[in-house]
Amino acid sequence: MSRSAPVVPAALLAFALTLSACTGGGDDGAKGTPGSPGLRDPYFPKMGNGGYDVTHYGLTLDYHPDGNHLRATAVITARAKQDLSAFDLDLKGLDVKGVTVEGEEARWNRAGQELTVRPKEDLDKGETFRTTVRYSGTPETITDPDGSEEGWLRTGDGALALGEPTGSMAWFPGNHHPSDKASYDVTVTVPEGVQAVSNGELTKESTKKGRTTTTWHTAEPMASYLATVAIGRYDIRRSTTPDGLPVYVAVDPSQAKASRKVLARIPEIMTWSEDIFGPYPFSSTGAIVDRPDDAAYALETQNRPFFPGAPDTELLVHELAHQWYGDSVTPRTWRDMWLNEGFATYAEWLWQEEHGGRTAQQVFDALYDGDYYQDRTDDEAIWAFPPAKPSSAAHISDSPVYERGAMVLHKIRQKTGDNTFRTLLRGWATAHRHGNADTAEFTAYVERQVPDEDFSGIWKEWLYGDGKPGRP
Ligand SMILES: [Zn+2]
Repeated sequence: MSRSAPVVPAALLAFALTLSACTGGGDDGAKGTPGSPGLRDPYFPKMGNGGYDVTHYGLTLDYHPDGNHLRATAVITARAKQDLSAFDLDLKGLDVKGVTVEGEEARWNRAGQELTVRPKEDLDKGETFRTTVRYSGTPETITDPDGSEEGWLRTGDGALALGEPTGSMAWFPGNHHPSDKASYDVTVTVPEGVQAVSNGELTKESTKKGRTTTTWHTAEPMASYLATVAIGRYDIRRSTTPDGLPVYVAVDPSQAKASRKVLARIPEIMTWSEDIFGPYPFSSTGAIVDRPDDAAYALETQNRPFFPGAPDTELLVHELAHQWYGDSVTPRTWRDMWLNEGFATYAEWLWQEEHGGRTAQQVFDALYDGDYYQDRTDDEAIWAFPPAKPSSAAHISDSPVYERGAMVLHKIRQKTGDNTFRTLLRGWATAHRHGNADTAEFTAYVERQVPDEDFSGIWKEWLYGDGKPGRP
C-alpha cells in the first residue's frame, strides 16, 4: 500500500533522470509505461487489461428498479505488475463521475469499452494500489457474438446481472477476463420490500428511510464473469447441507412452486458431487431462479447458479458441477471453455448413470451414432469443430464444447478405467483449486498422472482434430 519512493542509489537516480529527459517522460522522473488495453484473448482480445492484477472489488450499488437507474462506486484493489503510468479498466456504457487512485484525483478518458486511468504519480511494480470509480446511469444489456443477451437484464420486478463472457463490464469497471480472479464485497441498496442477492454470503442487512441495504462477501477468488446481482422479489429459503454448508436459495415467486422439489435436492447433489469431484471449493451454495426478459439460459454464477425458470435435476447437477470446474478451476482464456462445459456435461452423464438413467457409455454411443437429438442437424453439429479450438467467439457455447468435450473425458475414462478416472477428476479440481488452467495443462496433467498410457491419439483426434473421429 505504500506509495513512498524506493531508496535509489544516487548514480542510478541520475541515470533515471537522464533517461526520462531523453525519452520525454514526466518531469518527476516518471518511468512507468501504460498497461495494455487488452489481454489478447484469442476470442475476446479487448477483454481484460495488462499491467496489474486485481485482488479485491468493493462494489457499492444504489439501484432504483422503477427507473432502472444505478448509482455506484467501485473500489478496486490491485497490484501493479509493471511500472505503470496509466492503466485501463473495462466498462461499457454508464457515466463516469470521477476516478481517484490512492485517494488522489486521477485523469481518465473513455474509448469504447476502455476506461483509461492516469494516476497523478506513476505506480511502481509490485505496489498495491486502490482505484475508486464513481459512476451512474442505466446499465446496458449486451448482445453476445452468438446473439444471446447478457450484462444487465430487466426482470418483471427488478434486474439481473449475468456476465459470461463479457457482461460484467455493463455494471462495474474491472479487469474483465477470467484469468484475473479476486475477492468481492458487494453492497446493494434497493427500495424496502425489494431484495438483492449476490455471490458469497450475506453479511449485513439494514433498512433506513425506506431503503434496504444488503452486503454480500465473497472470500474465495472469483472471475468477474461469475459475479451476479439479482434484484427483485424472491421467495428465500435458507438451509444447510449435511456437512453444515449454508444453502441460500432465492426464487421468483412465479417459479416457487415448480422449483421447490428440485431445489430441495441441492444438499443431496452437493454430497454426491463432493464424493466425485472432491471437497467443495466455496463457503456457501444455493441457487437463484428469476425471469429475465431477454435471457433463457442458466449460468454457473459463483456459489449460487442462476436459472431462468425451475431447472430439472440434470441442469442443477450441471451448474453445481461448474462450481468445481469453471468457478474454482477457471479457464485461462475463453478458448479453454470446454474445461468448463465438457466437465459439467460429463457430470450430468455420471449423475444419470448412477441414478437409474442411461450410462455415460450409452450417451456417448448415441452421440457418436447420431441419434442423440431429435434433429439430425443437431447431431451433425457436434463435429463442427474440435472442443479445444472453437471456430470463433460466436461458437464458444456450441455443442462441440459441451457434448464433444464430455466425449473427450469419456475417452479418457475408457482408457484408464473408472477408479483412475475418478482420481483424475478429483485431482484436477484439487491441482488448480481457486486458480486458472488451460487445455495444455490438462493434457500434461493426465499424462503425468497416468504415465503408462498413451493419450496422444485422444488429444489428436478428439480434442484438437477436425471432423468426426473414426470408430476405434
Ligand atoms: Zn455449463
